[in-house]
Amino acid sequence: MRLLIVSNRLPVSVSKQNGEFTMTKSAGGLVSGLSDYLASLGKGTSDVSEYIWMGWPGSNIEKEEEDYVRQKVQQEFRASPVFLSKKLMDKVYLGFCNRTIWPLFHYFPNYARFELEYWHEYKRMNEVFRDELLKEIREDDILWVHDYHLMLLPAMLREKVSNPIGFFLHIPFPSYEMFRMLHKESRTEILEGLLGADLVGFHTHDYAQHFLRCVLRILGMENHMGKIAMPDHTAEVSTFPMGIDFQKFHTMDVSPHPSEKPGRGKPKMVLSVDRLDYSKGIINRLKGFELFLKKHPEWHGKVCLNMVVVPSRTGVGSYRKIKSQLDELVGQVNGNFGNMTWTPVIYQYTSLPHKELIAQYRMSHVALLTPLRDGMNLVAKEYIASLTDHKGVLIISEFAGAAKEMSESVVINPNNIDEIADAIAEALTIPVRDQVRGNRIMQRRLKRYDVTKWASDFVSVLLKTSKVSRESASRKLLNAATRKELLDNYRRAGSRIILVNYDGTLVPYSKYPSSAEPTEGLRSLLSGLESDANTDIVIISGRGKDELEEWLGDLSLNLTAEHGSWIRDSGKKGWRLLKPLSSEWKEEVLPTLEMYTDRLPGSYIQERDYSVAWHYHKADIEHASQLVKEVNDHLLSIVTNISAHVLHGSKVIEVSNSGINKGELAMHWLSRKEYDFILAIGAGWSDELLFQTMPDHAWSVRVGLTQTAARFVVREQGDAIHLLESLRQGE
Ligand code: UDP
Repeated sequence: MRLLIVSNRLPVSVSKQNGEFTMTKSAGGLVSGLSDYLASLGKGTSDVSEYIWMGWPGSNIEKEEEDYVRQKVQQEFRASPVFLSKKLMDKVYLGFCNRTIWPLFHYFPNYARFELEYWHEYKRMNEVFRDELLKEIREDDILWVHDYHLMLLPAMLREKVSNPIGFFLHIPFPSYEMFRMLHKESRTEILEGLLGADLVGFHTHDYAQHFLRCVLRILGMENHMGKIAMPDHTAEVSTFPMGIDFQKFHTMDVSPHPSEKPGRGKPKMVLSVDRLDYSKGIINRLKGFELFLKKHPEWHGKVCLNMVVVPSRTGVGSYRKIKSQLDELVGQVNGNFGNMTWTPVIYQYTSLPHKELIAQYRMSHVALLTPLRDGMNLVAKEYIASLTDHKGVLIISEFAGAAKEMSESVVINPNNIDEIADAIAEALTIPVRDQVRGNRIMQRRLKRYDVTKWASDFVSVLLKTSKVSRESASRKLLNAATRKELLDNYRRAGSRIILVNYDGTLVPYSKYPSSAEPTEGLRSLLSGLESDANTDIVIISGRGKDELEEWLGDLSLNLTAEHGSWIRDSGKKGWRLLKPLSSEWKEEVLPTLEMYTDRLPGSYIQERDYSVAWHYHKADIEHASQLVKEVNDHLLSIVTNISAHVLHGSKVIEVSNSGINKGELAMHWLSRKEYDFILAIGAGWSDELLFQTMPDHAWSVRVGLTQTAARFVVREQGDAIHLLESLRQGE
């Protein structure tokens, strides 16, 4: 089995100078983190034996040069390039990715721009990735898509291939109130895009919960223990906190760089490392350090803040602004507090190689990491892992994903400048014995769940979940062989009955129920089937009799309305009740439902002759799900003494006469005659009772890949029509 990793950028950058290509391995966190795991493939017991990495190679490559570059990166880096124009990539990267998603997902809505053009370019880039991937994907591949640049890709691929697809988001997933700020189209398509995956992974439980809540509120889809039933698979949402390469940080020999902590008489080092990004809280940190110096003159000359700031997204205005703010503040603190022998803030605006970074981690008494929001913050983990002497204190913002796993550190709220200042003072005086104890606990955790474990954990859950999902989806799918058997049975049978539901089966579900009239094609299909004297057709619907009469009354079909209260026999005029029914119970039920309708805006009552339905699909879904149990219990307590019963369907609660449902109705038809061929097709919750009462030899088919009592399922409404067409034509 091959693992196909997909990320926006390849782990190798291709550049061209004087007609010569140079390929540089990029050292991003994901790349270096995954390298151990990828190197282990094929050697262990995992089903995955090899990998290939797909992404953008990082520059404009002429059409005629593509083959050469493809071959080169494939051979040397096991990579397959997605060739995109730099122009499109820049637009998407600096547009939807970093001007819309990044600020919004990091809770900076004021920085977010919601341009429609950005969204279209983002979609376009995801499509290009899809098309390139489709050329590369083999049947035995498992796909692992990474990060916020490619959130539409899982669903785009799901439409075309049945390989297992995993997705991991490396940044926070925001709360519903933040996420809903996106345009309707983009927020819906992003959620649907992610749900195309079999497994959607997040760093923390909170991010996963935010995602599930957005799915509930925006798509109206509920989850069961983090699993969401999609039409053709189950999407599982879970938490995988990304780890680091612990051994590397813990054991690397960093000489000739000095890595000892400065001794007595030398200033203690407080380190911070991050990309220049407004989400990292760099300004708050400096202000916190400034306040610490104000509050603690006894530390003057004895402590330095060593800030490593990595240049980032210099093309985005808000990043340039923060850079000049930072330069100014560093100058101010050093000017106000420094002297000839002491510079309070050492400011390195650069990117350091790991060797040097680890040296700086080891020589620091304190790491001060104050992001206002951060998906994980690997620096926090790297700092603790690097401490070979186990001495040092981590101050970490509660808004970094890493804080969830590092409770032995000093956890702060970086919005409170006083808290930052006090935490620095506290960290500098924590007894060494307590530092060592806390760091050993954290190191054990980081060693156990390192990045290799993180990746292998994700891949094995993906394999397991996609296998279960595929098996249950395909088990009942009406395949060609079963379909042939059904048609043979139909052809051979002397007497046949087809019980078929209307909405969702014969016609697609419609936004406006009264606009679901049958087409001429459908009417002729039904009368064609009925014209065979050996075949009885029964339309089983929850609709009222007047509507069915208007739409199908001129055809000689058996019609049943209100889930079986009313019957109109084929060839006869007029409707009759299946059994004597009463509607007196409505007097008790209606006032109760009216009270709940007042309490739940968007819910409404639909009253029929012998049934009352309370619909809440238009109501606030969270409010509804809290209230529904109460409504159900209340109704049950009313109907215990009267001849009515309560059924809970999909976003509807229905009260009708006892003994009236599609199951009872089916029994009525089946008891009239011996049939050699019985087919029941339905699409909704009320059809489940129909399927449950079918005799063993009957064919029962549910539209939609979902849990059902039916023996078989078909994917969509069109498939049900197609099946009926085949019966008519006797194919
Ligand atoms: N890093 C680096 N050199 C530097 C500064 C940072 O190699 O000078 C690396 C660091 O080791 C870490 C990554 O960049 O692995 C930063 O990851 P983090 O999750 O902390 O923040 P991000 O930049 O992904 O938001």
